[in-house]
Amino acid sequence: MKTIKDLNIDGKKVIIRCDFNVPIKDGKIVDDTRIKGALETIKYCIERDCKVILLSHLGRIKEESDLKKNDLSIVAERLASLLKQDVLFSEETRGEELEDTINSMEEGEVLLIQNTRYEDLNGKKESGNDPELGKYWASLGDIFINDAFGTAHRAHASNVGIASNLPSGVGFLIEKELNALKELDKPAHPFVVVLGGAKVSDKIGVIENLVKKADFILIGGAMAFTFLKTLNYEIGKSLLDEENLDFCKKIMADYGEKIVLPMDFAVTNEYTNNEKYRTKMINNFDKNEMGLDIGPKTVELFKSILKDASVVIWNGPLGVYEFSKYKKGTDELLKYIVDNNIKTILGGGDIVAAATEAKLKDKVYHASTGGGATLEYLEGKKLPGIEIIK
Ligand code: AMP
Repeated sequence: MKTIKDLNIDGKKVIIRCDFNVPIKDGKIVDDTRIKGALETIKYCIERDCKVILLSHLGRIKEESDLKKNDLSIVAERLASLLKQDVLFSEETRGEELEDTINSMEEGEVLLIQNTRYEDLNGKKESGNDPELGKYWASLGDIFINDAFGTAHRAHASNVGIASNLPSGVGFLIEKELNALKELDKPAHPFVVVLGGAKVSDKIGVIENLVKKADFILIGGAMAFTFLKTLNYEIGKSLLDEENLDFCKKIMADYGEKIVLPMDFAVTNEYTNNEKYRTKMINNFDKNEMGLDIGPKTVELFKSILKDASVVIWNGPLGVYEFSKYKKGTDELLKYIVDNNIKTILGGGDIVAAATEAKLKDKVYHASTGGGATLEYLEGKKLPGIEIIK
C-alpha cells in the first residue's frame, strides 16, 4: 500500500483527510490530541511546498441546528497556533469561492475546508459516499492522503470517494496504526488477548476472530460475569448480558482452555464510588452484591500470563475505571505491562482513556485510537478507507 512517502507530492495540491473530530465544550476544544496527531503529515507536505487542503468531519449533522456547534473553524484557529502559520478556512464545502481560494493558494499554505458532514444535510452526500461529491472534492487537488484512521471503517465521500478519483496514499498516522495492528494478523506467540468492558455483545466479533489465534484470553470487566454465569456461579447484581449467555457457553465449550476468568473481585452493594467495597472470591458472592473491579488475586493471575507474552492486545477496562475505587485492576496491569516492557497494543476508546488518565498511554507499545475502526480491524473486517488505497 502506498504511503505519503511513496508519492511525489512536491509542489502539488495535496488533499489530506484528517480526523479533527475533537471534543468541544462550551465553544472550546477540550482535547486537541487529534489535531496534534495530524501535524506530522501536514508539516511533511508544507516542507515539500505543497498547497495543503484539509478535510475532516466534526460530530454528526442531522439537522440545521447541528451546524453551528460542529463548525470546524474552531479547529483552523488551533491548527494555526500549533503550526505557527496562518490557516485559511473555507466556510463552504464546495463552490466557486472555495475553488477561487484554492487557485490563489501559495506553496506551503494550508486551507481547512468546513466540516465534510455539512454535506449530510444535503441528502447524506458525505456519509452516503455520493459519487459526485467524491469526484468534486478530488477535482480540487492532485493527490489524496488519507490520515483519518477513526473513519477508515466507513466508506464516505471524503475518504473512499476522493481516493477513487485521485492517486492516493496513507499518511503517517494511519501508517503507524496499521503497522502496529498488522502484528496481530500473524501474531508472535504467546499471543495474549485482554478483554474487558461492559457488554459481551460489543465484543462478539472480536472474540470470534481472536480466540482462534490467541494462546490466552484474559477476561475482566462486567463481561466476565456472563462467562462466569455459564459455570453456574452466583454473580449477585453484577452486570449480566443475558442475551449472550449461549454465545459465552459455546466459546467456553470450544476454547475453554484458553479463557482465563477472574477468581476474585472488588464487590459492593451499590453502583457508586461512595460505598465501601470488599474483596471476594467468585464462589462467595451474595445475591445483592456486584463486582465492579477484578480483585488482587486475579491481578496476580493475569500478570503471571502476561509475563511471558510476546504480544498483547487489550480492549476494554477491567473494572469501572471511571470510579477511583474500581480502576485499580486496570491501572495495576497497565503499569505492569509498561514496567516490564510487554509489547502491548491498546485498542479502543475506553482502555486508551484509562491509560491516558494513568499517564501511561505514551509508554505502551501502541495505543490505537481508532475506536470503531480499531474494533472492526480486530474483528478481522476490511476497512474500506484503507482497501481503496490498497
Ligand atoms: P466498553 O465500552 O464495552 O469497553 O465498556 C467500557 C465500560 O465498561 C466502562 O464504562 C466501564 O465502567 C464498564 N465496566 C467495566 N467493568 C465493569 C463492571 N465490573 N461492572 C460494570 N461496568 C463495568
